[in-house]
Amino acid sequence: MAVKTIKTPAVIIGGGVAGLAAAIDLSRRGLSSLVVERGPRLGGRVADFCCKATDSCVRCGACRLADLVRRVAARPEIAIYTSAKPVAAEADGDGWRLTLEPQRNNGPAPVVELAGGPLPRRSQVQAGAVILAVGATPFDPSAKSRFGYRRVPGVVSALELEGALEHSLAELAGGRDPRRVAFIQCVGSRDESLGHLYCSRVCCGFALRMARVIQARRPGTEITFFHMDVQTYGRAWAGELAEMREQMNFVRAMPGEVTAGPGGPQVVYAAGGRSQTAEFDLVVLSQGMRPPVGAAALSQLFACTRTSDGFLGSDAEPVASGAAGVFIAGSARGPMSIVESIEHGAVAAAAAAGHLQPLVREAAHA
Ligand SMILES: Cc1cc2nc3c(=O)[nH]c(=O)nc-3n(C[C@H](O)[C@H](O)[C@H](O)COP(=O)(O)OP(=O)(O)OC[C@H]3O[C@@H](n4cnc5c(N)ncnc54)[C@H](O)[C@@H]3O)c2cc1C
Ligand code: SF4
Ligand code: SF4
Repeated sequence: MAVKTIKTPAVIIGGGVAGLAAAIDLSRRGLSSLVVERGPRLGGRVADFCCKATDSCVRCGACRLADLVRRVAARPEIAIYTSAKPVAAEADGDGWRLTLEPQRNNGPAPVVELAGGPLPRRSQVQAGAVILAVGATPFDPSAKSRFGYRRVPGVVSALELEGALEHSLAELAGGRDPRRVAFIQCVGSRDESLGHLYCSRVCCGFALRMARVIQARRPGTEITFFHMDVQTYGRAWAGELAEMREQMNFVRAMPGEVTAGPGGPQVVYAAGGRSQTAEFDLVVLSQGMRPPVGAAALSQLFACTRTSDGFLGSDAEPVASGAAGVFIAGSARGPMSIVESIEHGAVAAAAAAGHLQPLVREAAHA
């Protein structure tokens, strides 16, 4: 069967919030694009996040996804293929020629059926610009074995807590009613032993918002927050943080280990110059972000550079990749919040549009 070739001004790899924001911005500038998403649905990581409003909105940004999907659906110049990824790429004249391969997916169904759907067969794409919006990878807490992840019952990752927030927390706590909950921050970030010196920027806010939801839904739950310092990257948090400090126990210490105790996981930490042990029903490990899983392969495929932390792109410029016509958008470039990723997607689109302008002009005069 002949390989189909799709011609488009821009191809966007990754259908998370950054990729969708880039597609919308290109369309506002009169440029069509093709979004290629590896998974079965759009939205990336944000599609798994629930609303964390308590008595009021806590500005987690999760509902921005529904707005982006609605805007993408209303723009016929944005084409989408899900269950597809690039397996080959070569610079071709003024643009790039990509080979896309269909992916098998048993994951959750699409939130909204958009034009395109799953890629039916191996295809080629001829594009003037490429935007890599492949996201970051959550740190796997089992790489820090001293915290007892997958060894000590009642020790879970922040993403697992997020998944259970709307359901039952008792299941996470090994059947116990979780009345004593601890968060351990900076798991996998700001960690010299791993060579991950950067702050992941989102995990303090993520944990604090979940702690608020737990306290609002289960009054009387004792929350302990083990931290080096609290990074919330937003002045809007100052008032809320002061309020939380009255309702939760903030302990400035990085625990040494988590062990199995008679009544639940026990956290061992140093405070006041001596070793202390505290028992909880649930211990939540706030994992940070790592470079995208396929960063090495993608940087080879598109001849692009990586930042000093291993993400895609360069330390010196926000969206440049080192390769002509290839741009980086969203958390593939480094840890970013949802709102920052959306804004970064638009910046990448503006750069791609600038690159495409002479090509569009030439085509119009041909
Ligand atoms: C533990 C954790 C907690 C967080 N908490 C918060 C929070 O409370 N508030 C907040 O604002 N942000 C939070 N974030 C950050 C938030 O998830 C990101 O800002 C957001 O997901 C970034 O969007 P993105 O589009 O860059 O990447 P993603 O959401 O990761 O989307 C990338 C997309 O690209 C696709 N893809 C990857 N590789 C390929 C490929 N080769 N081909 C095709 N498609 C591909 C993926 O399937 C995915 O759909 C958190 C992140 C983590 C890890
Ligand atoms: S920003 Fe977050 S907390 Fe606020 S309404 Fe949207 S999803 Fe809910
Ligand atoms: S956001 Fe908070 S938990 Fe995450 S790495 Fe930075 S300081 Fe640590």
